[in-house]
Formats: sequence, structure tokens, C-alpha cells
Amino acid sequence: MTNPFRFPEEQAQLPEPAILIIFGVTGDLARRKLMPALYNLARENLLPARFAVVGFARSDWNDGKLRAEMRRAVEAFSRTPLLGPVWEEFAQHLYYFRSHYDDAEGFRRLDECLQELDARYNIPGNRLHYVATPPVVFQQIIRHIGLVGLNRPRTPGSWVRVVIEKPFGTDLASARQLNASVGQVFSEDQVFRIDHYLGKETVQNLLAFRFANSIYEPLWNQKYIDHVQITVAESVGIETRAGFYDQTGALRDMVQNHMMQLLSLMAMEPPVALEANAVRDEKVKVLRAIKRLAPADVSKAVVRGQYGPGAIHGQPVPGYRQEPGVHPNSTTETYVAMKLEIDNWRWAGVPFYLRTGKRLPKKISEIAVYFRTPPQLLFERGEFDHAFTTNVLSIQIQPNEGISLTFNAKVPGSEMRIRPVVMDFRYGSSFGLSTPEAYERLLLDAWQGDATLFIRADEVEESWRLLTPVLETWQRMPPPDFPNYPAGTWGPSDADVLLALDGRRWRRL
Ligand code: NDP
Repeated sequence: MTNPFRFPEEQAQLPEPAILIIFGVTGDLARRKLMPALYNLARENLLPARFAVVGFARSDWNDGKLRAEMRRAVEAFSRTPLLGPVWEEFAQHLYYFRSHYDDAEGFRRLDECLQELDARYNIPGNRLHYVATPPVVFQQIIRHIGLVGLNRPRTPGSWVRVVIEKPFGTDLASARQLNASVGQVFSEDQVFRIDHYLGKETVQNLLAFRFANSIYEPLWNQKYIDHVQITVAESVGIETRAGFYDQTGALRDMVQNHMMQLLSLMAMEPPVALEANAVRDEKVKVLRAIKRLAPADVSKAVVRGQYGPGAIHGQPVPGYRQEPGVHPNSTTETYVAMKLEIDNWRWAGVPFYLRTGKRLPKKISEIAVYFRTPPQLLFERGEFDHAFTTNVLSIQIQPNEGISLTFNAKVPGSEMRIRPVVMDFRYGSSFGLSTPEAYERLLLDAWQGDATLFIRADEVEESWRLLTPVLETWQRMPPPDFPNYPAGTWGPSDADVLLALDGRRWRRL
């Protein structure tokens, strides 16, 4: 069986027989993402014949309840419809294990249960732990895995790995502490810190686009690129996540992880191989090269915002402080715009502008690369009608995944009229395939031990090192003007000023 996620020359074999243990299986992530992803892997014959999935949680469930709940989840959230026979076969491999996350005896019984399943399915002791609970229990789970020896291969030649969900820490100190706790139980090559953005096809295509083509790489530097804009916009508010979001905010929720990943993939040097440490070495170098923001720079380089009441697609929506569960004087930011500079030879003098927010007019994530303007001497004379634009390469990550290039062309006719036009590549129309979900790719990679698309300990810490001073400065200086943008608009006016001071504008999306 070939694996459609890989290039032909790296067609891997099926993953080895193993047991996947999902901690927190009763939760939202398991329903929405993990189980639909596993089901689709099973449907495409990408799971080994000998495997088991053990869901671990406190709720009073059993195997039957888990299978029934997960069937409903797959029906609701899978990208492909549920096929009865595929589901029935897959569901035979699902088991529920009830325990508390800090109960050593429970973890000992878990070990016994896993050994029984090893025997039943002829599995050689391979374990993939998946920590899918809220972060408050991450450390308890990891500690107890270590306490009962579930971190060590049970038989010679078998393996144990752990996938850890985001958020990985809330600032530099907590990320370091979590890394240290994880490091007491697992070696770094066993640890797979997930950022599901890296599982998205378009994000991986950034690597293919940059390094499988020869035409862009010579231009990918300060000689030809004027600036870069990275946008991750959402039209939704906080939905039912007030408790989480009010403690978190946009900087932690979006910038520290997803946006820093996009930035480092966009800006990194070519790695010596498409291999986990080679790729991650280059990403870390980018993060290290970003100019640190001293407290005095924060207000000049970073804008924060919070939405007030407004309208989305013509429907009135409440402001953030009026959302159920949010403190009426909350100072949590729902919007961030920032200017970062990368101090290396490739990027010196090229600003990277990042913006993300909730309740913006539409949902869109893209990287836009603005090239320098050409000398316009030829067309500057009055008799030519021109509406020049700089060349913009837009890599759209979601929705409508694709890449487009804006360039100037002559309008047909007897006059020399110049207008911008767009050259467009869309995944859907070019490949016509239903794109696999990020979690399908990431689960398969973790199962096969390929950490290229997972975050290394030093990457997490570098990203927090850069952003923690922003959080600390904000904490010392509460925002005087929240809410400062109505829902359904593109954020606070200060974000426009941030670019206007450099003679630039945000791209209209
Ligand atoms: P949930 O709040 O749904 O929690 C998952 C399960 O963890 C619960 O069903 C509960 O099971 C158990 N749990 C253990 N301790 C606690 C606690 N203190 N409070 C609440 N539940 C607890 O979380 P999600 O499934 O939404 O998220 C899990 C992880 O995945 C988080 O780290 C999240 O940031 C990350 N994530 C989630 C995404 C999503 O779409 N939901 C997307 C990306 C990342 P029980 O009571 O049965 O033990």
C-alpha cells in the first residue's frame, strides 16, 4: 500500500503495529479531530492490521460507550462519510480505560491492560501516548507514565513516543518547566509537540514551493523582497471557549505557535535534508535571529486590540466583554498586529508584519510576499495610464488553499494602459483531491517516528523568549482603550498606523 502523503521516492511502509493511548479521549479534540483522523487513516488502509486505540479518561464510560460516542463523532466531523463496514472493523480496535490522571495504581493497571492488548493483537510493545487533555494535567500524566515505566520500551527493538498538545506553556518560564518535566521522563527524540498548522497541506507546500522550484529562491531575500505580511484572521468570536480564551488571548493562542511557525518556514535557510533535525535547526535559527523587543519597543512594534459589539456578515454580534463567561472588564486581547525584523543576511531591513484577530470580516490565513517595485521610469510619463502594483505572491493557507501572483500587464487595446492581474493556482482545481486533515498526517508521522512537522524543545523556548517581554509589558500597562475595534472590521486603527509609519498598508483580503 502506498502512502499518498509522501513523495514516491519516500513511500514508507505501513506504520508498525502499536497501541495508541489517548489521554482525555472524552474531550472535544478526540471527537472533532483525532477519531475522524484515525478513521480516515483506517479507511485509506494506512493503519497497520495489528493496532489498538486505548482511550483514557475519568468519565464513567466503557468500550461500548466509547465506540458509540466516537461513531457519532466520525459521522459529524469526518471529511469523508462514514462507511459502515470500515467503521465496524475499526471500532473493534477501540478500548476505554477509566482512571484519574494522578492515580499511580490506575497507571499500573493501564500497563497491564496494554500488555493484554499486546498479546491479543501480537503487538511488540510499541506505544504512542497522546496527551489530549487541558494543559493543567499534562505534567501529571507525563509523571505517571514515567512512574510506572510506560516511558520505556517494553521489549528490545520496540518504541515509546509521546505526542503533546498545545499550548506548550504560557510564557518562557512555564515552557521551560514543562520541557524539563517532559525531559525527566522522555528523551527529546521520543517527544512530538504538536502544532496542527504544520500538518496542513498548504503549510507543507511552502517547503515544496520554496525548495522544489528554482525561480523564487534567488529572489527570496532583502534584495528583491520589500516586506512580508502574515495574516491569520477569524470571523468567529470565542464560541464556547471563554474560560480558556480569557486566560490566554491572541498572542498566546495564535502568534506564539502558528504564526511563528509560518514565519520560520517562510524565512528559513534551505535545510541540508528534509529530515526532522535539519529542518528544525533552520527554523530555530530564524527565531534566534529575530530582533528582541525591549519593553520600550513593545508599544512601537506591537498593537493589541479587543472587539466591541458589531456585525458579522450583516448579523449583529456582541462585544468580547459581553460574551458569556468573559469578565466585563477583561483586558484580554482578541487582536494582535506586530512588526518583526530578522537580523540576518537574507532578511536585514525586510519587516515581517503579523496580524491575527477574532471577529474580523472573514476567515483567512495567508502569507503575502511583497516584492520591491521596479524602476517605473518607462511608464511615468503622463501619456501612459497605469495603476501599478508591486508584485505580490500570496500563499493562502485556508480556506481556498492556493498560491497567486499579482503582476502588471498591458490592457489590450491601442493605448499603453497597465493594470495588475493575478496568476492563480488552487489546490482544489489543480489536484481535485479531498485534502487530508492536518491530524491525519500528524498522527501518521508520530506513529512512524518522523518528527519533521513537530516542534522541538528549543523552538518552543525561542518563540516564548521573543514574546514573553510583550506579555510582561502588557501586564504592567493595561490597555486604556479596550474595546478598540468593532466586530466585523479589520482591527484597531493603530494597526494601520503601524504600517503607515513605514509607508505601507495592510493587504485588502
Ligand atoms: P477538553 O476540555 O474537552 O478536555 C479533554 C478531556 O480531558 C475532558 O473530556 C476530560 O475528560 C479531561 N480532563 C482532565 N482534566 C481536566 C480538567 N482539569 N478540565 C477539563 N477536562 C479535564 O479539551 P479539548 O479536547 O478541547 O482539548 C484537549 C487539548 O487539545 C488541549 O490542550 C487543547 O488546547 C488542545 N487542542 C484542542 C483543539 C480542539 O479543537 N478542541 C484544537 C487544538 C488543540 P474526563 O473528565 O473524562 O477525564
